[in-house]
Amino acid sequence: MMHEAKSFVVDGLMAEGSEGVRLCASSCGGCGSVYFPRTVSCRNPDCSSTSLEEKLLEGRGILYSYTIQRYQPPNLFRIDNWEPYALGLVDLPEGIRVMGMLSGFDLDNIRIGETVKLISECLFTDPDRGKVMTYKFAPEITGRDAQ
Ligand SMILES: [Zn+2]
Repeated sequence: MMHEAKSFVVDGLMAEGSEGVRLCASSCGGCGSVYFPRTVSCRNPDCSSTSLEEKLLEGRGILYSYTIQRYQPPNLFRIDNWEPYALGLVDLPEGIRVMGMLSGFDLDNIRIGETVKLISECLFTDPDRGKVMTYKFAPEITGRDAQ
């Protein structure tokens, strides 16, 4: 059986395990601050700890705000089959706010405050890297009211 090559758009940004995709953050051993993407030193001015540990973030959060990207970004931002998409800000239970593309939403019916779940989707296909994946936030279907 052939396995298609798959990689993440940025190394160390996310990990895929038995519970699905998770974002890789850093957690400070001194003050508990959480950073995403990962960092090498704590930025809390009141903290002098240098012990940061990798932490996988929860796969669900609450949509805090969003915007619609209606024009195609420059080629630097590589994406196959471009079409307008929503970019969301999501509050995670760890107390941090993460930006990510939204997936599976009707762009005219996105509700701030709804629960979203983390997924991974192919951003583009590269001859050397295969499917290049990124993280996105999708509606938590079970929590959604009937339309
Ligand atoms: Zn700290």
